[in-house]
Amino acid sequence: MRTRYYREQVLEGIAREVITAYDQSLYHGVPTMIPIEDIIEAQGLTLEFQCLRKTGSVLGETIFDDGGAVIYDRDIPGYTIIEVKSGTILIDDSLCGEDSSTGRLRFTCAHELAHWLLHKELYSGTGESAAMVTESSITQSQNNTLETQANLLGAILLMPRPQLKRCFYRLRPGRDRQRLVTDMADVFQVSKQAMRIRLENQQLL
Ligand SMILES: [Zn+2]
Repeated sequence: MRTRYYREQVLEGIAREVITAYDQSLYHGVPTMIPIEDIIEAQGLTLEFQCLRKTGSVLGETIFDDGGAVIYDRDIPGYTIIEVKSGTILIDDSLCGEDSSTGRLRFTCAHELAHWLLHKELYSGTGESAAMVTESSITQSQNNTLETQANLLGAILLMPRPQLKRCFYRLRPGRDRQRLVTDMADVFQVSKQAMRIRLENQQLL
């Protein structure tokens, strides 16, 4: 597979298009949480929650071709294949549990949408899917670039640059670094870690 590398500015442009197509004010108005699940559906994609692996090692998976996907069926119990259509994003249902963080669920959704936006042409017709695996199961994968790009676009979709900056300058007065990260993570409904990384990458922290 030939990998195309997108510069960050291009990724920001893709995010702007996707977000403003859904709602201009999300990009130009008061900084707020980006409704990533609604945006995914507005893109004509289907979100489906399933137990993807017994071990929880796969958090999300984007389906590019009609066909089958492996899931874990607790009733059997065992693995089984379900029919899936192109444009389905499978999310591990452990991410919807009460103990699970909203930030983690939202980041997984954004990451998978990013795969669809960036890598559709790459995967279509190959019968392969783009799966988001937990860190422990990432070996030295040739998919590293694809994953890095999906992570970056995922972060941009949830925290688009103009909104990140607007929120930063609005909230910075009177807050120390930790408080600022916490409160901004709250505004955008992302994890504190995701917010910290995004701010550092933008040289705001
Ligand atoms: Zn991925």
